[in-house]
Amino acid sequence: MFLESEVDDPLPSARTAFSASGGFEDDEPPSRHSRPSRHPQWQDVPDHQWDDWKWQQANAIRSVRQLRSLLPFTRDELEAIGKLEADYKVAIPPYYFSLIDTDDPEDPIRLQSVPSSLEGEGGFELEDPLEEDKDSPVPGLTHRYPDRVLMLTTPNCTMYCRYCTRKRATLTRGGWEGISKDDERMIDYIRNHSEIKDVIVSGGDPLTLPISKLKFYLDALKAIPHVDVIRIGTRVPVTMPQRLYDPELLQLLESAEKVYIQTHFNHPREITPEAARVCKSLLRHGMMINNHSVLLKGVNDDLGTMKELLRGLLRIKVRPYYLFHCDPVTGAGHFRTSVWKGMEIMEGLRGHMSGIGIPTYVVDSPHGGGKIPLMPNYMVSMSDDAVILRNYEGMLVRYQAEDKPVSSQKTATRGVSALIQGDKTSLMPEGNERMARRRQLQLVEDAPSGSCGSGDSPPPPATSSTRTLLPMLAANG
Ligand code: SF4
Repeated sequence: MFLESEVDDPLPSARTAFSASGGFEDDEPPSRHSRPSRHPQWQDVPDHQWDDWKWQQANAIRSVRQLRSLLPFTRDELEAIGKLEADYKVAIPPYYFSLIDTDDPEDPIRLQSVPSSLEGEGGFELEDPLEEDKDSPVPGLTHRYPDRVLMLTTPNCTMYCRYCTRKRATLTRGGWEGISKDDERMIDYIRNHSEIKDVIVSGGDPLTLPISKLKFYLDALKAIPHVDVIRIGTRVPVTMPQRLYDPELLQLLESAEKVYIQTHFNHPREITPEAARVCKSLLRHGMMINNHSVLLKGVNDDLGTMKELLRGLLRIKVRPYYLFHCDPVTGAGHFRTSVWKGMEIMEGLRGHMSGIGIPTYVVDSPHGGGKIPLMPNYMVSMSDDAVILRNYEGMLVRYQAEDKPVSSQKTATRGVSALIQGDKTSLMPEGNERMARRRQLQLVEDAPSGSCGSGDSPPPPATSSTRTLLPMLAANG
């Protein structure tokens, strides 16, 4: 948790601040989701308090005793999470808690934020699955990739995600080794390594830091000429957007000039009008926003939910950047899916929705190997002069990257082999919607030469043009 005393200056009321910072009260929220209704517990809280991040922080749910008065639990669950409380912290701001459907024990917002008895079950998970601590030349700083570093600036978050990769520092009680004395050493390290171009300021959540502390980091990094990019890793827009109603914080972030926001939406229900408005505000202050999602069982591990999330992010101009496979962190085994589930989702995205909405699916490698991107296989075969590619519809196509003559020595063959030999240029699955649309438009494609189920149909002329318009189309046009 982060404490009131950590904050520098008293803030104006959030509603006044919000208006003063840009007058967004008239804006049409771009999210399709309506303002979340508040849990009855906070129904009578005046708006000026509800919209004040300090009120949200002070009233966050932080104990099993509070949870049991707000949500149904079985006796066994209560006993189990009661025992876990001694080890792991809880914090759920009333705003985020109000997104939970309290009648649904499997609610995706609940799964992310409310402790589960499954957290106590062991597996092969690890305290530091990414071995960040082993790549730390200075406490709190991880230098893994050639041109970028990760700085851990605080153990505090507005909400403690139950699957957090850095649980050892954030959720675990007493798990954080104070690093405040090392702030200068982290900055010195970056200053002395001119190959570092990109600094990820993370934690915990750096937007829980007092303004003066955040200013220290941002001013220092801004002044280092070889640092081009400062990425702020924060879940504040998702879990407590009220913090970003503060014009002083927005101004500080903008003044650092190099700041990108790296946020973390996992479910479409998190894209509320409040979240949409603070993202808009960050964009207006010149900060690009990229999103990390984690693939979580029961939260977003189905194609429909993932598509809705990604489309929602595009609607608020947040770029889907990474979809992480859930790391093998202690107590989070119940969130982990198979890699095949991730691949299945990626297969349903590429080609089926705009490329600007598709994140890169990555597994963060054991032993500190870093992010490894995974994607379905679109290259089916290859020869010396061509590759055989598959598109999202299952169409197989011969692609000749260089202008080489097709070999005249051919053996009669079929299927993918016929594409490699140059006898065919494509194989189209039967019942293809795109082809049906073309027929409706009275366009005739001469390239598709049969279906995957009839690969021995006669090949098209090797030098055919790609498209012929029927006279009827000209008549229509
Ligand atoms: S906000 Fe980030 S650092 Fe904090 S608990 Fe969630 S995943 Fe971990």
